[in-house]
Amino acid sequence: MSRDVIIVGGGVIGCSIAWRLAQAGLRVTIFERGRVGCEASRAAAGMLTPQGGATGPGAFFDLCLRSRAMYRRFADELSEASGVDVEYKDEGTLFVVLRGEDEADKIKWAQWQIEAGLPIEDVSNDLYRIEPAVTKSATRAIFLPEEHQVENRRLMDALEVAMTQAGVELKQGADVTALTTDHGNVSGVESNGERFACGLVIVAAGAWSSPLLKALGLNIEVIPALGQMIAVRSAKSPISRVLHASDVYIVPRSDGRILIGATVEYAGFQKVIKVGATRHLLNSAVELVPSLDGAEIVETWSGLRPDTVDHLPIIGQSGARNLWLATGHFRNGILLAPLTANLIAESIINRRTSNELRPFGVERFSLLTND
Ligand code: FAD
Repeated sequence: MSRDVIIVGGGVIGCSIAWRLAQAGLRVTIFERGRVGCEASRAAAGMLTPQGGATGPGAFFDLCLRSRAMYRRFADELSEASGVDVEYKDEGTLFVVLRGEDEADKIKWAQWQIEAGLPIEDVSNDLYRIEPAVTKSATRAIFLPEEHQVENRRLMDALEVAMTQAGVELKQGADVTALTTDHGNVSGVESNGERFACGLVIVAAGAWSSPLLKALGLNIEVIPALGQMIAVRSAKSPISRVLHASDVYIVPRSDGRILIGATVEYAGFQKVIKVGATRHLLNSAVELVPSLDGAEIVETWSGLRPDTVDHLPIIGQSGARNLWLATGHFRNGILLAPLTANLIAESIINRRTSNELRPFGVERFSLLTND
């Protein structure tokens, strides 16, 4: 079979790109060594919160806002194509400051967003009408009406159906051990002892992207950032939207689960659930919503976010001919999937890298090492 594009990695980034490229008529194969979404993409909390995590304006913030603005349509299109409801929920997100915590940082954070004209509201006087179960020791509450959530496990189910229906060939259990080259140009991949040729390879292998690139002499670091999560269930969900406090977030799902997350640790490639992290997350969640004390723990898991030295994604051409990269989305890969997919697909089809991608190119790494 002749292929235009091989994508290494069937996470949210690889699958979204594959879907868009197949819709544009390209013959695409995904090589996924586990099953679709089995790593960070199913481990995530599915929050779509650029404002929540932002410390100031810039190209990355703009990228996140643009992708957020596309999400409702992306979710609808995906649900329609696949028949899987991806549970895009638009109740907004609430940030709560607790007594004893320093409010100064939160006020500064809210202030630049107000000055930038972003949707953000101080709802401190209205908190217990909006979310009655929040602790009475809250001193301030800030509402982000455009920061929503999606059920990322269902999103991955939907992507699998939609992309295969669009013609993507999906190889699961297919570990790519090397990228192959022909006269210095990337020409395909090697998997399970076989070689597969194509016109172009996209590495979207999440936290595992670096070894394939280093073997070609591309010194690009993608670093695993461990996140641990807990899901609990109570008779009736005490909250109706995503809540954040200084070191925990709580995400209510339609099926009654309430996700509590997440740690960020740099501990290599081990996916573990530690007693200390679990205890810390549970304590922080109960401090924020005291009635969670009676909830039942139904699941714990961890995942490895693909991070980079400057915490920005790497999206675009790689420096090696016929090799593209879409990795390093760190804490925002679910959020950034629709825009990443569109920009990569447009760049490949038009044979010209979109200007919007320039700040996320590999060129910046040589700049960093010269600093
Ligand atoms: P992955 O989902 O890790 O996919 C990479 C895939 O490549 C894997 O399936 C892997 O098996 C495969 N692979 C790797 N090497 C090879 C190889 N050699 N051959 C074949 N296949 C290979 N983001 C948000 O936007 N919102 C959130 O609320 C959020 N919460 C998070 C909470 C946690 C606990 C974690 C861990 C992450 C969270 N994220 C969140 C981040 C988000 O999950 C990631 O940014 C995103 O999933 C990255 O997608 P990816 O496709 O690049 O990587």
